[in-house]
Amino acid sequence: MPTYHGSCHCGRVRFEVEARPTALSECNCSICSAKAALYIPVKEIVGFRITAGESELTGYRFNTMTAVHYFCRHCGIHTFHRPRRDPSLWSVNARCLEDLDISSLPIRRIDGRNREATAKILDLDK
Ligand SMILES: [Zn+2]
Repeated sequence: MPTYHGSCHCGRVRFEVEARPTALSECNCSICSAKAALYIPVKEIVGFRITAGESELTGYRFNTMTAVHYFCRHCGIHTFHRPRRDPSLWSVNARCLEDLDISSLPIRRIDGRNREATAKILDLDK
């Protein structure tokens, strides 16, 4: 299983993700569209480790307060989050991975703005 290495912009927060992504998810919900993040689908992540800078992270919660959206408190870059559907899992911002060519993967658009109507799809992807 490939291991990809990621970091925030200033490099204080570093992490690794084991996955073989077949697509990336782009969501139109209020926070994902503001972050402009592309995600490795949760189901395709088999391993995740924060390797540096865990103490430099700040977590942001809203609405149901279930998901936790982490960002570096120095550079402000969103690196990964705990998804609402299962906060024991991780969702990773593929734009922060230095050794994944995101242009090589198709983008799957997720209608998170209408979350309740598309809950079944979201269960698969976020
Ligand atoms: Zn940073």
